[in-house]
Amino acid sequence: MTASSKASATGNDEMCFDCGVRAATPGRPLVVEMYRVLGHSGRRLAFKEVQVHVPICEICRLEENSSEMRRNRIVGACLLIPLVAGIAFGISQGEIFRAALFGIGAGFVLSVIARATVGHKRRSREHPEIKSRLKGGWTFDRPGT
Ligand SMILES: [Zn+2]
Repeated sequence: MTASSKASATGNDEMCFDCGVRAATPGRPLVVEMYRVLGHSGRRLAFKEVQVHVPICEICRLEENSSEMRRNRIVGACLLIPLVAGIAFGISQGEIFRAALFGIGAGFVLSVIARATVGHKRRSREHPEIKSRLKGGWTFDRPGT
């Protein structure tokens, strides 16, 4: 009886970089956008943008997407809730303008805090290309937003 070889026939089946257990979906990598500020050109901020492709399976892709969406929702809520509360308070006090300004300010501060603290699951940051870009000053957040 001969032992049958279970080696992959194609040889280029990539494993999912995220879980490392399932095979990555061919042709559908996780596209990670990264940015690097080059400096100011006139009044505009000049930056470079790259897309790093990380092999990933469908299940991990869904998890990445939902955690990114959750983060965006939290940041959005932090921006909106103080504004709405400020306007509502302003209407009740007859000081709409000042209250709205306060709401905008508070919302801005809160959303910046949320952006910095609400973790987006990024195991993909262990990817060698992403890792070396992070060291080289690249970030995940588009400059100036
Ligand atoms: Zn996976």
